[in-house]
Amino acid sequence: MLTAKDIHKSFGELEVLKGVDLHVSPQEVVVLVGVSGSGKSTLLRCFNFLEMINSGEIIIDGKSVNSKKDNLSKIRAEVGMVFQHFNLFPHKTVLENIIEAPMMVKKKKKEEAMIHAKKLLEKVGLSDKADVYPNKLSGGQKQRVAIARSLAMEPKVMLFDEPTSALDPELVSEVLGVMRQLAQEGMTMVVVTHEMRFAREVADRIVMIDEGQIIESADPKTFFENPSQERTKQFIQLVG
Ligand code: ADP
Ligand code: MG
Repeated sequence: MLTAKDIHKSFGELEVLKGVDLHVSPQEVVVLVGVSGSGKSTLLRCFNFLEMINSGEIIIDGKSVNSKKDNLSKIRAEVGMVFQHFNLFPHKTVLENIIEAPMMVKKKKKEEAMIHAKKLLEKVGLSDKADVYPNKLSGGQKQRVAIARSLAMEPKVMLFDEPTSALDPELVSEVLGVMRQLAQEGMTMVVVTHEMRFAREVADRIVMIDEGQIIESADPKTFFENPSQERTKQFIQLVG
């Protein structure tokens, strides 16, 4: 569903991704871990073409993306992304936030977009918040709206960049619960998170990135109990 081949990405002199290869199969849930600054966000942003790679190849659903020629807003619609900070439009209601992109980018009719949006709000447990403005929501509710908004584009893959890191501890589980449900429904997902219990229980595979390179890729049991790299062992001790 999503393949990265030998991706290199630099910011000026600083090479952040040093030849990353990653293959994510349909319906697979990959949790991406690594210390701060190792390149996790940059990698996700390259998958979504918020950052342009310097070399290598990104293949989405079998199609190699040419960032110069292809319609990037169409590709961004296929690869949904949820950030640490929710980035909801403050002057739009929850429902308006969700229908905006399907109407603007996918040219959906308002009625159709609204029906879909209401289904998605039900899915994330926020049916009663359709007409509320974001500032009336808790962080966990905002993040669930952000997930619904991303799903409204009917993406083929969902990327999550530390979606619970900005939340108060008591709000984390409601967001992880929605993500767990999505995974169970067969969504292909790449998730950057420090929630190791979620990784253990939901991931098909855990991938460790260190200084811009993937150094470990294993099923959760192997990852935690028998990692191949010393750096992975150190990381596991760090995160508990
Ligand atoms: P992580 O998400 O794993 O913490 P990032 O991908 O955010 O790591 O960052 C990796 C490295 O790239 C860091 O050294 C960071 O300072 C640098 N970096 C990220 N984005 C930019 C940017 N837009 N310009 C310059 N340097 C950046
Ligand atoms: Mg990051």
